[in-house]
Amino acid sequence: MDKNAVTGIPKFWQERLAQLVAQPTLCVIGYEFHADYYMPHFYDTIGGEWSRPGSRLNPFASESHYLAVLGWANWRKNVITKFQHPENIPKLSNLQSLDQLRKLQQLFRFGIADQSPDGFLKSNHIPDVQEIYGNIHHGKCHACGNQVEQWQFDSSAKTIIACQSCGGRIFPDIYMFGWNEQIETKTILTMTLAEVENLLLIVPDKAQFQFNTCAEVMRKKRVIEFAPKSIVLDHGKQSIHIKDIAKILGYRESDIDALNKSPGSIAETLAIFSEFCMAWKDLTIE
Ligand SMILES: [Zn+2]
Repeated sequence: MDKNAVTGIPKFWQERLAQLVAQPTLCVIGYEFHADYYMPHFYDTIGGEWSRPGSRLNPFASESHYLAVLGWANWRKNVITKFQHPENIPKLSNLQSLDQLRKLQQLFRFGIADQSPDGFLKSNHIPDVQEIYGNIHHGKCHACGNQVEQWQFDSSAKTIIACQSCGGRIFPDIYMFGWNEQIETKTILTMTLAEVENLLLIVPDKAQFQFNTCAEVMRKKRVIEFAPKSIVLDHGKQSIHIKDIAKILGYRESDIDALNKSPGSIAETLAIFSEFCMAWKDLTIE
């Protein structure tokens, strides 16, 4: 890193990054670096097939339906677990993103609201994470609400996982089974948002996040939103192309050109932003 080059950080950015250090910030993470996003759901992301009108599937009442649903959840949990080991990930981009996130979190000390229920951030020891849609590795009793740390399903024996308190059926602690539902997550998010000034949005698909239900409180925040190839500030008031950040960082012309031509991704934007923040930190804090 050429320190002389980054002394050209615009005043606006210097103020904004100083605010991130000084004031409480929340980071909202979407599915960008989660294995979960690419895997089939049990037909519906919110209620499951059983919640559709006319569905004859009822995992709460029928033992065989319960076993079918648990078999699916078990398969999903196993794939997620496999994907979370570095040697099984072909591209490693999500782990690199995780490292960048970790650096940013150390610099700005923010809490994270995680939309994915795959437990990826927590299993990688990222602190201060709220899993707003639950965690597939954890279980919950549908009858009494008793929570279990880890559920284990024996797919060959096919036996019900029973609650140790009441004998009810244990389901994965995710949004599909009557808990972690939108009304709950909205309440949690609204309360968390009320306590922060700044918001980092690493959310590739806003349709999957409750922007509408939390719009009122979100409008009042200073927002840094990561998009493919650009960073959008304060609800679209300003937008900065990543190649302009690369220029501030003193990238070579050919590298800037490559960035300009790349299709772009949230991970790429996060990588540039992370580098930018570290350069700023080196100049101002240390
Ligand atoms: Zn129970």
